[in-house]
Amino acid sequence: MPAVSASERRRERTGRPQRAQPGAYRLEPKTRPDHPRPPCVHVGDCTMTQRSASGISAAEARLALTQPAVGAEACEFCRPDTELGLTE
Ligand SMILES: [Zn+2]
Repeated sequence: MPAVSASERRRERTGRPQRAQPGAYRLEPKTRPDHPRPPCVHVGDCTMTQRSASGISAAEARLALTQPAVGAEACEFCRPDTELGLTE
């Protein structure tokens, strides 16, 4: 009996995030309109993402983080701003 089965190795390889594809990011809206926390952008596979978050493309994620009208913050766990090259 091998310690790691072939199926487990395959799942590990295919489970890698595909961040270049549309929907690779997620936008988590405010809980309520008057909630103090701004919307939050996540990388698609972030475990901190709430269920209400919707899938967005990299371009939409970049806009959400850079447009003052949206005012979204980058999740501090998955750092989509780093992924998008928004931080120097
Ligand atoms: Zn996140």
